[in-house]
Amino acid sequence: MTILTKKAKFALCITLLGCSIWSKAQDDRPNILMILCDDLGYGDVGFNGSKDIRTPEMDKLAKTGTIFTSAYVAHPFCGPSRSAIMTGRYPHLTGTPYNLYQNSSQDDKDNMGIPLKEVFVSKALQDAGYYTSAIGKWHLGAAPKFHPDNRGFNNFYGFLGGGHDYFPDEYQEVYRKQLAIGNKEIRDYVLPLEHNGNSVNESEYLTDAFSREAVNEIKTATNKKQPFFIYLAYNAPHVPLEAKPADLKEFSSIENKDRKTYAAMVYAVDRGIGQIVKALKETSQYENTLIVFYSDNGGNTNHGASNYPLKGSKGDTWEGGYRTPMFFHWPNKITEHENFNFPVSSLDLYPTFLGLAKSKPPVGKKLDGKNILSNILNRTNPRENEMLFALRYREGYCDVGGRLGDWKITRMGNEPWRLHNLKEDIGEKKNLSGRYPEKLKQMVATTEDWTKDFIQPLWYYSLKDKELWENNRMPMYNETFEIDKLVQPAHKN
Ligand code: CA
Repeated sequence: MTILTKKAKFALCITLLGCSIWSKAQDDRPNILMILCDDLGYGDVGFNGSKDIRTPEMDKLAKTGTIFTSAYVAHPFCGPSRSAIMTGRYPHLTGTPYNLYQNSSQDDKDNMGIPLKEVFVSKALQDAGYYTSAIGKWHLGAAPKFHPDNRGFNNFYGFLGGGHDYFPDEYQEVYRKQLAIGNKEIRDYVLPLEHNGNSVNESEYLTDAFSREAVNEIKTATNKKQPFFIYLAYNAPHVPLEAKPADLKEFSSIENKDRKTYAAMVYAVDRGIGQIVKALKETSQYENTLIVFYSDNGGNTNHGASNYPLKGSKGDTWEGGYRTPMFFHWPNKITEHENFNFPVSSLDLYPTFLGLAKSKPPVGKKLDGKNILSNILNRTNPRENEMLFALRYREGYCDVGGRLGDWKITRMGNEPWRLHNLKEDIGEKKNLSGRYPEKLKQMVATTEDWTKDFIQPLWYYSLKDKELWENNRMPMYNETFEIDKLVQPAHKN
């Protein structure tokens, strides 16, 4: 039997005391409810000034919380943007800058997913004592080892692919027919939803189904007496554009059919947020829950979205491609109801959430963002003299964006570099690169420096992409970051 010295006994006593203080403190940690929309445009919510789409429930939260007017995601489309949210790292640094391969065989699927060594924020929160639940779209790997249940979520209800049809009666019919003819590669937009790996027979319009599940999970989590992290990833208003007749009626004044349907889809999300707020209040969790609202990338202007007043669309590195609607709502904690205008990133969520959980990143975990809570409370810039970036691999060239304070550099494919002052020119109309060549040069050099630790992508979206990388026609950084030279695309597209 070990005999403790007086000093050791004292140390043990202090340690135990520390533990008891810690577990009491854990009870005070807030719940975190992250609501992620898919392809929702900057200008498509009331709180950002939409004139034709009404979002009363979001607006109530946004206006009694803090609206972020310069919130960026780490990539202008789905998979890589979600990879960055979960890993807290730019997708180019984890080998995940492409969406999962479009024609995946089962072999591909077994190996394609965000590398397991990248600990997800969900796992870090679970390890910190949170009850964790993912609802909706996953898109981060479909094989069992990449399944949400194996990436730090106690519960998952939704679908694993990159999108889904919305009306069960319709997609289930298509699915049954495909099964009957023996199709082994059924389009994942019509697959049954699942609950922790088991197929479920969903009957509600998808957005309503995910809102319902979120309400249920709030009740489940409340009974567990743990703080919760709920990641509610609506696939709305991503295509296919499918809305309920009652929601369409709300927008009878919109003539354009795509815009009308898109508006009704956003309205369905808003209706769900109203139900979620009600559930938070009924379970007495409202005051102690941080609600974060975000979109995974900009709106697709070819499918009914508007990023007004920003230029560009989902997939590009104009502001509209990767600057999205965002707010934080936390009663009595985030009480400053003025907009937060300094640039922030979805990369900041991981460290900020861990800070709220009074926990630290796993040992060895690299994070590209910052804990921005004190910046929000004190209205200070999280990034004095530091840039935020976006880079999209195209075919034989890259689209690039870089933000520093009010300044933005943009390179879209084979067009020359541009420099904009977003404070005076949010729509990136007036190119100032000729007037401030040194500023442009410095920002381009900093952005090029950011690429030096990038690794080879672990998969490509298409065979064409794969071929370009194998033939050294990608990533073409030298050409991309040369200021005076135009980049020649590999082929016209
Ligand atoms: Ca998306």
